[in-house]
Amino acid sequence: MGSIDVVVYCEAGAGQTEASNASLITAGAKLAANQGGRVVCLLVGNDIAEVAGELGQYVDEVRVADAPRHADYDPLTVLGALQKLVVEIDPCAVLFGHTHIGMDLAARLSAKLGTSLISNCFDVQCEAGATHFLRPMYRGRVNAKVAVEGGIIVATIQQSGARQPDLKGGGQVIAIEVEYAEDRRIRPLKTIAPTRSGVDIAKADIVVAGGRGVGEKENFALVEALAAAVGGVSACSRPLVDIGWFTSSSQVGLSGTTVKPKLYIACGISGAVEHVHGMKESGTIVAINKDPDAPIFRIADIGIVGDLLELLPLITTEVKST
Ligand code: FAD
Repeated sequence: MGSIDVVVYCEAGAGQTEASNASLITAGAKLAANQGGRVVCLLVGNDIAEVAGELGQYVDEVRVADAPRHADYDPLTVLGALQKLVVEIDPCAVLFGHTHIGMDLAARLSAKLGTSLISNCFDVQCEAGATHFLRPMYRGRVNAKVAVEGGIIVATIQQSGARQPDLKGGGQVIAIEVEYAEDRRIRPLKTIAPTRSGVDIAKADIVVAGGRGVGEKENFALVEALAAAVGGVSACSRPLVDIGWFTSSSQVGLSGTTVKPKLYIACGISGAVEHVHGMKESGTIVAINKDPDAPIFRIADIGIVGDLLELLPLITTEVKST
């Protein structure tokens, strides 16, 4: 029987966004459970046996192509593997993380399959026999419920603050050979791994984020000091990524990561809809901004009006002394 299984393309290895796998598998499991199907995960990379074994706990089957020649992401090779899997399994849906790699592959696969692509989904709803994908529209001001009639669904799923998906246990890990694509119009030259390390912001219980209001790069040390004092991680708004201070792995928001920590401290962030979209589900939101009319105060549980350059050292010292 076909068209009930779900394929999820998970990421593993250098330059890949492993943190996106949790929300992706959660969405895939929801979809598959609704129709009594299986979740089959495809992994292509190098030295990824451990990740494959771990993912096996959450899905029904992991197909893994693990070889040195897959060390650098090669879209055409992975696309070939996906197309082969689609022919073999005849899934109802193929899901990707809403990451650079996921967006690249999803567009290519939907074009090859001649099917629709639903991008940037933050939830899947299966009720009364109907399946809908939820995605933001108009820069996050409204949410759209999207349904696909006929054909394989190809969708990208936002990385959210979702913890681990439900354990299934016993998922089979099957080693596969993936043909290296002959078409060499695209050739990976080098994978440049993100320079910023540390805890994944999507998984952190406390996030202290800095925005354009920090002014100079060296002032961001104040944000990091508070993050360290409260046992959290630091993150940022998009302008700080755009000017090259940080990589997108630190960015909270619509085109970055959705976070859901217990405590979110926004420092010098105005509260643009795109930023708020990525943190509004946080438990307690504290905002520090010198502008009393900043939109961030509309969603903040605690608002502090003042200059962060003066306030952050005071708060950090206070936290450390308690
Ligand atoms: P600003 O809006 O410039 O705000 C700076 C704030 O700092 C101001 O409120 C100011 O009062 C305050 N301030 C200044 N100095 C101080 C001080 N000394 N002490 C205290 N407060 C001070 N943005 C994201 O963050 N994440 C996204 O994922 C994202 N995705 C986007 C996707 C699209 C398609 C588009 C069009 C935009 C996106 N943006 C995103 C950008 C978004 O629209 C805003 O431009 C951005 O969030 C603004 O960042 P900010 O709040 O740091 O800067």
